[in-house]
Amino acid sequence: MSPNIAKKQRFLGKTAIITGAGSGIGRAAAIQMAREGANVALFDLVNERTSILEQKLNKLRKDCALAIDVDTSDAVRMEEAVRRTVEHFGGLDIVFANAGINGAVGPIEELSLSDWEKTISVNLTGTFLTLKYSIPHLKEKGKGSIIITSSINGNSRFASFGWSPYSTTKAGQVAFAKMAALELAKFKIRVNVICPGAISTNIDESTEFNEDVESIVIPIEFPEGAQPLADGPGKPENVADLVAFLASDESIHITGAQIVIDGAESLLS
Ligand code: NAD
Repeated sequence: MSPNIAKKQRFLGKTAIITGAGSGIGRAAAIQMAREGANVALFDLVNERTSILEQKLNKLRKDCALAIDVDTSDAVRMEEAVRRTVEHFGGLDIVFANAGINGAVGPIEELSLSDWEKTISVNLTGTFLTLKYSIPHLKEKGKGSIIITSSINGNSRFASFGWSPYSTTKAGQVAFAKMAALELAKFKIRVNVICPGAISTNIDESTEFNEDVESIVIPIEFPEGAQPLADGPGKPENVADLVAFLASDESIHITGAQIVIDGAESLLS
């Protein structure tokens, strides 16, 4: 949580699912929501990281966290993970569909079908499955907030050469979020999508560079630094502040919004 934001308890009695909670943006959002009173279900592929976070949060507030080892692109495991969350905490109020990978980066003709399908399946199908299995439980509550992590790539920035699978999924998430916002408005379920620029996380570990990528790069020179406001990448906690705002009733009239959080990075590209 940003030190300059007063401690609030906006999520007392609420339950949140956070995908990709083991690292980076998801981890920061889980910590912030738990500090503000939420029960948090920590969904991630890498169970060691979420187990450690589970222990840390349960020390902060007894039984507020539950780590679930799940691949968001696996329909059977996702359905089970959402069911376990609701059984454990007794309901669902907030969904942060955030898990994602950079995936294969390279010239289109050099990418294999499985490269393409892997990125689509984690970033786009994973988002679909997260919403699909959560929505019935939010409807049961008669209210809810969903936040999806997209990116400036594929939306306002197209100069990341070789990142066509990633950028395509990030554009798809924005369309999906807006469709969902309209479909779910009458159920008082809000859906918003955030588009971060560079944030210091472990995301680079999920990048698979094709050696031919250099052949398609058009050199671009940034005037001074790529993120003018921060003079460098943002922090996961900066994004967590935005996620918590969108998850809370402070944003009660905001749905279908696409919010850029990039320290002006995309204004340069
Ligand atoms: P990160 O790698 O630090 O965290 C992502 C987490 O998602 C990891 O713990 C990983 O294990 C998990 N994950 C990956 N695939 C999964 C799957 N199939 N099922 C369950 N969990 C899975 O990266 P991050 O930067 O925190 O990424 C979070 C989101 O932010 C991603 O959707 C990413 O595309 C987006 N994003 C990141 C940046 C950035 O610069 N870091 C910029 C724009 C958008």
